[in-house]
Amino acid sequence: ARKPFISGNWKLNPQTKDEALALAKGIASSITENSPDVDVALFVPYVFIESTMSSVDGKLSVGACQVCPQLKGAYTGAISTSMLKSIGVEWALAGHSERREIYGETDDYINAQCLKIIDEGMSVMLCIGESLAEFEQDLAGSVCAVQLKKGLKGINREDLDRVAIAYEPVWAIGTGKVATPEIAQNVHAKCRAIIADMYDQEAADAIRILYGGSVTPESVDDLMSMPDIDGALVGGASLDASKFGRIINFKS
Ligand code: 13P
Repeated sequence: ARKPFISGNWKLNPQTKDEALALAKGIASSITENSPDVDVALFVPYVFIESTMSSVDGKLSVGACQVCPQLKGAYTGAISTSMLKSIGVEWALAGHSERREIYGETDDYINAQCLKIIDEGMSVMLCIGESLAEFEQDLAGSVCAVQLKKGLKGINREDLDRVAIAYEPVWAIGTGKVATPEIAQNVHAKCRAIIADMYDQEAADAIRILYGGSVTPESVDDLMSMPDIDGALVGGASLDASKFGRIINFKS
């Protein structure tokens, strides 16, 4: 069975270190011995990574929201996997739709990031998902198939235990329009079939596929009850310790 994985993506929030640490501590305190057996990660702005890590008592992992595919050199402003690894960061996101749209990250660039993260011994959460127009044309499955195949190109079967997938339909991100459990389940099952096709059935059965897009305490339980939904990647609700705490303590 796949271990559930609840993760938060803080994006460009919160605004100060004090707020970040208060939020992280609040979230960590919601993880108790009565919580489900679940992995928890927070993807936070670089400047808060180290202090957040030391404020959560090892109860959750703290990851980076993106990485530079180069290790060193003339890339002003970039952060490398070697830097992250040296401070103990295990997880990084790649391919978030905001990076694709606002910063023009292409599937090739995202693939280079994924390969570098895996090369460095870290773990990657590859984000994929269709736009509203694609959804309306019934293209969710095929868009995700292309993003998965291009994003994971060159990643070896034996490294797949350090890969998680986050299906985040763009129309559901920050809109309050969470995908129904049935819509999400349908795409998750298709993604799992793609992984079986690229690797094998055992790999497909083992990989964790998270849903993201307007997940709230109200929607998490029904989403998590679907057979191919293994977790959540939460934006807005991860900025509220009581809401995110309730999501971590989902009921299935
Ligand atoms: P929201 O939960 O705010 O819709 O954001 C989802 C997301 O983009 C997580 O990566």
